Amino acid sequence: MKKLGFLILILSIFLTSCNNEVTKNNHSDKKAKNVILFIGDGMGVTHIYSAMTVSETPLNIESFKYTGLQKTYSASDYITDSGAAGTALATGKKTKNGLIGCDSLGNHFKSILKYAEEDGLSTGLVSTSSILHATPAAFIANNISRYNYQEIALDFLKTDIDIFIGGGKKNFEDREDGLNLIDSLKSKDYQVATAIEDINLVDFQKFAVFTAEKHNPEYRNGRGDMLPKATEKAIEMVSQNKNGFFMMVEGSQIDWGGHDNDIDYIITELLDFDRAIGKALEFAEKDGETLVIVTADHETGGLTLVGGNINNKTIEVNFSTDYHTADMVPVFAYGPGAEEFTGIYENTDVFHKMMQALGLE
Ligand code: MG
Ligand code: ZN
Repeated sequence: MKKLGFLILILSIFLTSCNNEVTKNNHSDKKAKNVILFIGDGMGVTHIYSAMTVSETPLNIESFKYTGLQKTYSASDYITDSGAAGTALATGKKTKNGLIGCDSLGNHFKSILKYAEEDGLSTGLVSTSSILHATPAAFIANNISRYNYQEIALDFLKTDIDIFIGGGKKNFEDREDGLNLIDSLKSKDYQVATAIEDINLVDFQKFAVFTAEKHNPEYRNGRGDMLPKATEKAIEMVSQNKNGFFMMVEGSQIDWGGHDNDIDYIITELLDFDRAIGKALEFAEKDGETLVIVTADHETGGLTLVGGNINNKTIEVNFSTDYHTADMVPVFAYGPGAEEFTGIYENTDVFHKMMQALGLE
């Protein structure tokens, strides 16, 4: 009896220490191994429905089973800008318009990309604008102005982001401080290229792909399939990591179509963005451990469908502003943890839900 008691004591110590191990290292509450976040800049519900109406085939966005709505207001304004909204999605904290990853005193907020990196996950950013523009910058930089592009470029060197694809080369090499950050990237073992086709996965390393000096061209002006291809390539690279990955893909120019009150610009950008989402869903379906989130930072243009014909696939639209609006924006989720994204919540909750899914919070 004494022996049995001793055995039970030993066994329970063993089990307790095992349990601790599980919580500490393997994230017992972890739902997803990978997260791919898609941000359609300026993409409201009406932008999506407009594209759905004119498209010959159903959009990939339509296949998501879990949907929600998020409130986009910033710490300073009912109507947010992409800096504050990007910061909310990336760091879980609301800030003032114009700021990137910090408060107005310059106190830094830590992004999900950095939490993921610290936990041994691979990380990636893909954008159809400059990679230094507000939305991608919110995931990697901390700056009291979203327009300090040269300082934001320096922040890329302070991380070990595994792959980034987008425009913005000029601010890495043609700089007021005389530094050549392309050389700095190379000395940090980055493979630097100007075309997605030029990078090779020989053994897993880091990639910086500059597809434009500043922003990439509009889709209708010859961007081609840069965004779907970049998304596919980035997934191929970061999915080599057995610990998992976090990646953000931005359809930047849906917003610019909204600012221009140009429905053709909006729809061509949105359909291209949707094809990129298709690439991620293809991977996630096979992989089974990947959470795919599609959302926006805010609505742009105050877009309204005032007429149209569902059979003829025609639409008639009105814009009420050439800036952003305060509208709630949709959230679409697929994969492990997707059910957490239903309902109405703050933009900052998108961060917390993704962190929870990865077992980082
Ligand atoms: Mg943007
Ligand atoms: Zn905008």
